[in-house]
Amino acid sequence: MQIQENVPLNSHSAMRLGGNARYLSNINDRFEIAPLIAWAAQNRVPVIMVGDGTNIVWRDEGFPGLVLVNRIKRFETLNVDDDNMYLTVGGGEHWDSVVERTVDMGFSGLEELSLIPGTAGATPVQNVGAYGKEIKDVMMTLEAYDIMQGKLVTLPASECAFGYRTSRFKTTDRGRFLITSVTFHLARTNPAPPFYDSLRLYFADKGITAFTPKVVRDAVIAIRSAKLPDPKVVANNGSFFFNPFVSSEKLSQLLEDFPTLAYSVTSDDKIKVSAAWLVEQAGFKDAHDTETGMATWAKQPLILVNEGAKSTADLLKFKQKITDAVKEKFGITLQQEPELLP
Ligand SMILES: Cc1cc2nc3c(=O)[nH]c(=O)nc-3n(C[C@H](O)[C@H](O)[C@H](O)COP(=O)(O)OP(=O)(O)OC[C@H]3O[C@@H](n4cnc5c(N)ncnc54)[C@H](O)[C@@H]3O)c2cc1C
Repeated sequence: MQIQENVPLNSHSAMRLGGNARYLSNINDRFEIAPLIAWAAQNRVPVIMVGDGTNIVWRDEGFPGLVLVNRIKRFETLNVDDDNMYLTVGGGEHWDSVVERTVDMGFSGLEELSLIPGTAGATPVQNVGAYGKEIKDVMMTLEAYDIMQGKLVTLPASECAFGYRTSRFKTTDRGRFLITSVTFHLARTNPAPPFYDSLRLYFADKGITAFTPKVVRDAVIAIRSAKLPDPKVVANNGSFFFNPFVSSEKLSQLLEDFPTLAYSVTSDDKIKVSAAWLVEQAGFKDAHDTETGMATWAKQPLILVNEGAKSTADLLKFKQKITDAVKEKFGITLQQEPELLP
């Protein structure tokens, strides 16, 4: 059991801000978890598990307990036949490497989720999604250490309360389950239209009419690389705000004042407004804020970039400027996507 003390957390957040963890331990095996939980209980300190920190903003005060960094590696195929594969991956596996390996094996299911940064174990937490695909569509079960029961448990997808960028791991059972592995059901089929709008446009533009998992992965990588900053190079947490949902009355009212409003209707008839459009129209397109050292990414205003912020307080001040401007202009309160911890 190796526990480090007073570890700077800025290297455990893609925004590269935040104070120190009082204690930190890297987890390489699921059986390392139980003794560490017992140690934390004995020392009366809170525990949190993280992956690569791409969806986390640490407060300047730091974390007053034990941070467990999931480094558990595993890539195990089960029951592979001509058409199906059940794949179990360790919570600490680099997510995009998992996607790449499944695509290289000719299996479909994860290709739309290419190039999402972070670890495999974090993907169920916010039901990671992109280009019309979500983790809930392909996940069968996950294994987690349940702090409440003090043992490893297996949860089927149906018991994870998945929703748009959410799950029970972010809501009712926040902090209770430490995810050690995730099992997916993938198929040896080719993806078929209809594709998500930006993919459809990309294929039409390139004259692509034959689709394989690799073709879709390459398209997703090309689209994402063209508009999103690489968190290894530019400090950012990806989309900083969720796309807000509005009522049909609110939509009519908005369209009267803003006829070019960007919105879409989801398959379950919910009206989703583009947060990027709201931020841009509120005056934050390619904005560089000298007071806080924060900026919005030129190609995607939903991404807040740390150009020279000194603290999380700077980031939060910049965020407030944006949310206030959007609220004033559109009457919509934007909600932050990356988790502010603790
Ligand atoms: C450039 C960029 C683009 C992005 N694009 C997308 C996108 O298209 N779609 C999307 O959905 N997200 C996107 N994200 C957000 C992020 O990549 C995902 O949420 C990712 O799954 C986070 O993985 P992580 O390992 O970094 O998790 P962390 O940031 O370390 O943790 C996130 C949350 O999950 C919890 N957690 C992490 N691992 C575990 C575990 N093993 N067990 C229990 N709890 C755990 C943490 O406590 C925290 O609450 C993007 C981020 C960036 C920086």
